Amino acid sequence: MTVDGASIAPMASMGNETIDYTALSAADARWYADILAFAAGEKCSAHDTTTVLARFSDLPWTKCVRLMSDGQSDYFDANGVRWAADTKGRWHRTRGRPLFRLQQRLGHIRYHRYTLGPHNDEFVSHICGFKDCLRLEHIKYQSKREDIADKRHHKRFGLGSIRPELGL
Ligand SMILES: [Zn+2]
Repeated sequence: MTVDGASIAPMASMGNETIDYTALSAADARWYADILAFAAGEKCSAHDTTTVLARFSDLPWTKCVRLMSDGQSDYFDANGVRWAADTKGRWHRTRGRPLFRLQQRLGHIRYHRYTLGPHNDEFVSHICGFKDCLRLEHIKYQSKREDIADKRHHKRFGLGSIRPELGL
């Protein structure tokens, strides 16, 4: 597929699941492209959205794209909403309670629903272990058991490594 001269990889494959970047809603695509560009130290204007998404969806699915915090500056998203990082590098919206975290927003973009909550034994996990990673491929709604398996894996093999059974 080609839009505005940019070639788009329609599917980023991960196990049995695929992420179709071209299927994101216009609002989600705009929001997601902006935060990816910001993480890469760039600015994303509205008409760059497709190009930015194409570039990042072409990355190997195991590669992280982290929104590194300098500990001082916040991030204002495409909607003008302010996000801040805590000392562990976890991003959250600065307004509203309870805290709304970055992985909840990313999970919603990926799954088109919010998690069902702890009563339903479903967690938003960063399968790579980096709390500031933006890759939709690395956000997974999974059980506590799987979340613990991730943590064990990261302890043994380091952050950024993904359990092989989650791969192709
Ligand atoms: Zn990652």
